[in-house]
Amino acid sequence: MAARHDQTTDPELLQALLQARRGTAFFARKLNELSDAELDGASLLPGWSRRHVTAHVGYNARAIARLVEWAATGVETPMYASTAVRDHEIDFGATLSPIALRSLFDHSAVHLNVEWRDLPEDAWHHKVRTIQGREVPATETIWMRTREVWMHAVDLDNGATFADIPVPVLQRLLRDITGAWKARGTDAGLVVKAACQEQELTFGDTAGASPTVVSGPLPAVVAWAAGRRSAGVSAVGPAAEAAGAHQSRVPAAPPWI
Ligand code: ZN
Repeated sequence: MAARHDQTTDPELLQALLQARRGTAFFARKLNELSDAELDGASLLPGWSRRHVTAHVGYNARAIARLVEWAATGVETPMYASTAVRDHEIDFGATLSPIALRSLFDHSAVHLNVEWRDLPEDAWHHKVRTIQGREVPATETIWMRTREVWMHAVDLDNGATFADIPVPVLQRLLRDITGAWKARGTDAGLVVKAACQEQELTFGDTAGASPTVVSGPLPAVVAWAAGRRSAGVSAVGPAAEAAGAHQSRVPAAPPWI
């Protein structure tokens, strides 16, 4: 008999699981607000309809569940056979009937949640490998899912914004994104400042002599950094001047995925 409650008692993990579950519920709410016909509409992601986003979020839960199963059993089960297989799966999923698409999301989310719930305390530290080839403990699967559900709920483009995403999730997203830039060296001369609850968070190339500084409220800055939109952020410095002759414009953020 499977337990009805989480096997882990680690307060940090339980808090992280709560954030992932809230994000899943938020995505479900935004999805359920859409009529079947509206699923055909465009998402905020170039070339993807809302169907693609929904299929991707569903298959992503299955892929992450495979990592959790791997941690539980020690039997290697990768997220996807390859990125080509993943992309093909999304294209296929986008063609499903609305009812099948909705149940793909619902069932995959429930399945992942059961895998998390039943994962024994010690197995959370077992190593698994992501599609990018990173070796991570199973605990990382919670964050992998958290950022997907919150961000893609906004991508459904039916009213959710980055301001709906909890502050700790936004902060970690910005850390991840600016960290990815740094690892690739694409953040040269770029400083990012986010205003958050009376304080200012600073990321990026803070050692540069004359940086371009992009700033704004945390949700707006994360939306810009994630490549979604630049409303609500402003920029000063060389890249801003290059982007607009008289008026400072916001340069496009470097890619992060
Ligand atoms: Zn995604």
